[in-house]
Amino acid sequence: MSRILVAVLGATGAVGQRFVQLLADHPWFEISALAASERSAGQRFEEVAKWVIPGDPPPGLGEMPVLPLDPSLPAQIVFSALPGKVAAEVEPAFAQAGYAVCSNASAYRQAADVPLLIPEVNADHVEMIAQQRAMQGWTGLIVTSPNCTTTGLCLPLKALDAAFGARQVSAVSMQAISGAGYPGIPSLDILNNVVPYIGGEEEKIEQETRLLLGRMEGRRRVEAEAVVSAQANRVPVLDGHTVCMSVAFERRPTVEEAVAALADYQGPEVVRSLPSAPRHPILVRAEPDRPQPRRDRDAGRGMAVTVGRVRPCPLLDLRLVSVSHNTLRGAAGGSILNAELLVATGYVGGSGSGD
Ligand code: NAP
Repeated sequence: MSRILVAVLGATGAVGQRFVQLLADHPWFEISALAASERSAGQRFEEVAKWVIPGDPPPGLGEMPVLPLDPSLPAQIVFSALPGKVAAEVEPAFAQAGYAVCSNASAYRQAADVPLLIPEVNADHVEMIAQQRAMQGWTGLIVTSPNCTTTGLCLPLKALDAAFGARQVSAVSMQAISGAGYPGIPSLDILNNVVPYIGGEEEKIEQETRLLLGRMEGRRRVEAEAVVSAQANRVPVLDGHTVCMSVAFERRPTVEEAVAALADYQGPEVVRSLPSAPRHPILVRAEPDRPQPRRDRDAGRGMAVTVGRVRPCPLLDLRLVSVSHNTLRGAAGGSILNAELLVATGYVGGSGSGD
């Protein structure tokens, strides 16, 4: 098939650069436009994007002009790496103009008619798009990726929920500084330190988890009833969020049963063959001191979630630790996987109905 033209909104930022890096070699997608704020518009990408991620900018793209956020870009899909407040205005304008918007921003993650997706967890939630289009009158659409910490929590949680029914979840995060974008947190605040507060983060983790574990009734999403308690901390790690979780279940599993459920977990058939899908979405480590962000964040090209320390919990039923890459699986990579799902299900480049 000919490649689908895509644009990146917020291309100059930490997540935007990940999009540019991942899309440069994508088998289905081709970058046709890069857009950012009025401060950057009109200049060459290499002039305004201070490269903050490992590796070099992809050859050729540095010359591209940065365009304003006008919904007249030569693309079918737009990836949004915009701040929430900007996304709140810009993303509906693009959906109205017929673009498929795959967003990383928080603006519409909890909207009643917007799918919040991790394809291996809830690919069937794309069916909400029919209701979204009917309600909004859009020819385009918006789908969102969860908060980067929610992703590392929910992939293993889904595997356990599907097998044993999750009732209560306590999650304590240790989040990397790249999660705050560039320039992010001042070094004098974070070096040699832990900051036990990330504004709005705990509420996002709690609510987004219930949406992701929710079920479809017809074309309507019903959120899960599990009680989720989150505590978010910023730690001096460059990339990779760690989550320590304890979970109570309807049926308490043995450690062996839980490990098997995690290691064997696969998303639905339609997701497994997508170009960005890792072969194993969850990797289980047996060593007592894994997972660790520096060693495990790049597993499965940064798209797998690594778990370990699966053990009984004297308070709830089971404890474990997850590590996931916040700007790959938790942001740009996850959003590109969402776009691949839209193509595979016919919402982009197909009948437009998803049927
Ligand atoms: P960032 O490094 O601060 O980048 C922000 C981007 O948005 C830049 O391209 C910037 O363009 C553009 N922008 C800023 N203000 C703008 C304005 N008023 N009008 C138009 N464009 C504007 O932030 P980030 O970490 O990449 O995060 C981007 C989004 O992804 C946020 O919504 C964030 O919550 C979400 N997210 C981040 C992570 C993560 O790990 N970092 C994970 C998941 C989700 P200029 O360069 O022109 O200013």
